[in-house]
Amino acid sequence: MRIGIDICNTIADIITPLAGCLLKRGESDGLNEMLRHYHSPAVTPDIFKENPDIFSRARPLKGAAECLHMLAKEHELFYVTARPEWARQITEQWLRRNGFPKAPLIMSCNKPKVIAELGIDLMLEDAPHEIRGLRKICRVIVRKAPYNTEFPERFSWKQGVAV
Ligand SMILES: [Mg+2]
Repeated sequence: MRIGIDICNTIADIITPLAGCLLKRGESDGLNEMLRHYHSPAVTPDIFKENPDIFSRARPLKGAAECLHMLAKEHELFYVTARPEWARQITEQWLRRNGFPKAPLIMSCNKPKVIAELGIDLMLEDAPHEIRGLRKICRVIVRKAPYNTEFPERFSWKQGVAV
């Protein structure tokens, strides 16, 4: 099976460093909105460009690397992220440094398109807007977060993933 893995908040906690940036900017409303709904107008592409350490300093979610190594024994993995192309090197270094299995890194804002092109069967994802689009194309299982309770097939890395 081909498995796609989202990065931000599926294997990397970027909520914590992003929250720090929003608070520094005095955007506490934006922070609350992000925690509830994932999206907030306060979270713009600029905030990442100006603070690339949001990506480099993100903590890996506990158990994620171990689970992905298990999955890599039987399945073909692809990292599929909407991060911008300028963050490729930071992201590749982060994956290596945090012990994640080697796999192609696909960067695209149009995940449904690349998922269809690559013939991915299953996607691990956390963001509601992405899940809605991806579900039309492949099976999606959802990394549990406060903002995605509406979806049925959710998992946490601590409990492990049944694929
Ligand atoms: Mg995500």
